[in-house]
Amino acid sequence: SRQTIIAGNWKMNTRSDSAVALAKGVVAAVGETPTVEVVLCPPSVYLSSVADAVAGTSVQLGAQNLYAAEDGAFTGEVNASMLTDVGCGFVILGHSERRALMGETDADVSKKLHAALAGNLVPIVCVGETLEEREAGKMEEVIETQVRGSLAGLDEIRAAGIVVAYEPVWAIGTGKTASPEQAEEVHALIRKLLGEMFTTDVAAQIRIQYGGSVKPGNAKELLGQPNIDGALVGGASLKADDFAGIIAAG
Ligand code: 13P
Repeated sequence: SRQTIIAGNWKMNTRSDSAVALAKGVVAAVGETPTVEVVLCPPSVYLSSVADAVAGTSVQLGAQNLYAAEDGAFTGEVNASMLTDVGCGFVILGHSERRALMGETDADVSKKLHAALAGNLVPIVCVGETLEEREAGKMEEVIETQVRGSLAGLDEIRAAGIVVAYEPVWAIGTGKTASPEQAEEVHALIRKLLGEMFTTDVAAQIRIQYGGSVKPGNAKELLGQPNIDGALVGGASLKADDFAGIIAAG
């Protein structure tokens, strides 16, 4: 049985004061013994202050990206070792915004995945098709290419500990969530692919989050699907009450 994991991707939002206030609000709402795993992913400049705000609680910290190299001449970048140093346990990789805006490829995501694992970070690997791809009947092909490419070179032992996030691009920030049936179909497809790449036993251990306009009002139905093991939440993670409502649905 897979433990539900609810992560808040704050994207490029908050300031030092509001980041700490939001983290404290989530801590207060979550209580001491949540049944689900809760991860906050603030902008990298606020990781340390959010780490302080959640210290000693069950709320965990994640980053939104990393650069796959050891220390060196990489102006503007942050590596896995730095992220663990400031208290991160998780890192989001290959988010569709990074794929679309920064040109990240599956090969880049795979490199980052190996850097994350080498640095003891749990990677949250994002995949998802665009509306155009879905309407052209290419959803399955796109998901397969992204899953196989992003997880290239991963061994069975490490695979069991990763998190995959299915985020249909057309549902991100649009208010148009995938229906529970639509999401479950893709989650089941991803788990089947993971079974082919690793073993069915390993695939059964990998948690697959859904992301895309998750809100307190739709979370329960989504999280009730057999292959949906959590949520990666954008907009609704910026309000402690909304995020708490989603956690409560897990
Ligand atoms: P929204 O919840 O704002 O649709 O964003 C989803 C997302 O991209 C999380 O990574």
